[in-house]
Amino acid sequence: MDIAAPSDPPFASPPRACGDCTLCCKVYTIPVLDKPEGQWCPHCTPGRGCGIYASRPDYCRAFHCEWLAAPRFPDHWKPTRSKMVVTRFPGNGFLYVQVDPGHPRAWSRQPYRGDLARWARQLLPRGAHVLVFVHDEATLIIGYQAIPLGRMSTEDSFRVRMRPTADGVKYVAERVPGPPKPPA
Ligand code: SF4
Ligand code: SF4
Repeated sequence: MDIAAPSDPPFASPPRACGDCTLCCKVYTIPVLDKPEGQWCPHCTPGRGCGIYASRPDYCRAFHCEWLAAPRFPDHWKPTRSKMVVTRFPGNGFLYVQVDPGHPRAWSRQPYRGDLARWARQLLPRGAHVLVFVHDEATLIIGYQAIPLGRMSTEDSFRVRMRPTADGVKYVAERVPGPPKPPA
């Protein structure tokens, strides 16, 4: 799958169903519910669903992870199996991977690590990146390089530079003020 290809067109209803998955109800902050990231929402029965489904906040209603929304997204990325929830940020094309804190190394296992490396290589020419989060600790993925960026929010940004070495090109990243810029 080419992650740099245009997203699938908007859908009337998602092409997949959440089924037994409820992972987004754990990994994200839900501001309208005062729910911190990394903890189950009090309305969620894990593996079963939302106890207030009909009246759930618009914030929840509007959320679709990439596995749910993109029919070409690989089956093995179902969040119950991968232990990760992937979203694509429309503003900058970045891929955000939010890892279940109960499985903090899930992103480094195969086949996921290989997928992340390939997607990072596909996005790089467009100035977009793959970022893995465990809680708010961010790791930038560039091919098989994994560069820790520390604690980050959507208000934080970083700059990537290439550095030639005897073993080929390496990438270095440094934090800079301001939110990530959209690709040029
Ligand atoms: S993480 Fe994706 S598949 Fe799982 S419940 Fe949320 S939207 Fe549905
Ligand atoms: S309100 Fe429902 S859909 Fe929203 S986080 Fe809680 S359990 Fe999930």
